[in-house]
Amino acid sequence: MNLILLGAPGTGKGTLAAGIRNAIGIAHVSTGDMFRHNIKDGTPLGKEASGYIAHGELVPDSLTIRMLEERLQRDDCRKGFLLDGYPRTIAQADALAAFLTGVGQKIDAVLDIRLADATIQERLSGRRVCPSCGSSYNLAARPPKKPGICDTCGTALEHREDDRPETIAVRLMAYHEKTRPLEDYYAARGLLHAYDNEVGSEITLQSILKALGTLGAASRP
Ligand SMILES: [Zn+2]
Repeated sequence: MNLILLGAPGTGKGTLAAGIRNAIGIAHVSTGDMFRHNIKDGTPLGKEASGYIAHGELVPDSLTIRMLEERLQRDDCRKGFLLDGYPRTIAQADALAAFLTGVGQKIDAVLDIRLADATIQERLSGRRVCPSCGSSYNLAARPPKKPGICDTCGTALEHREDDRPETIAVRLMAYHEKTRPLEDYYAARGLLHAYDNEVGSEITLQSILKALGTLGAASRP
């Protein structure tokens, strides 16, 4: 089963991805991780990508899709994949569809994880990180024992720029603007399944697995 995962930062997408992977045994392919591994391992594609990054340029779509094609043909994707971080544009969606058609495959469903912006704000702005050991806290869900101090190493916790309300609002607006055309694209193809994660990741995961079970049963001969 080949899936695409859409969802803004802070929607609980990571937890759901892990749940889906564990439940149905497909590979979780995060394009962010894919880039980091290629660059770290110094693969030919990774070297090409570092060249662009070193010059402060965007990595072109053609390189990303080549990296992705290589990734999706590895052994762990034999039962399928859950694609996270790609596509981000209609051109990328078309390139992915063309590649999959070429290898006799297709996207079975696009999971669109939604959460009210106010809830995302609450979750992300409560995050505090230890600059020394990297431990992460959440003022609402997982506060440190002593306010503002890391439980593990006693360092003063930081409220990172990325987790400040103004920055989050800008990131969310950019996300919605970029993602709306993709939602329309996949809805028009009957592939979009939207989930409101306000009910919590446990319940959302069960709904997703139920829907995938139905899809899987329908696609079997
Ligand atoms: Zn610490």
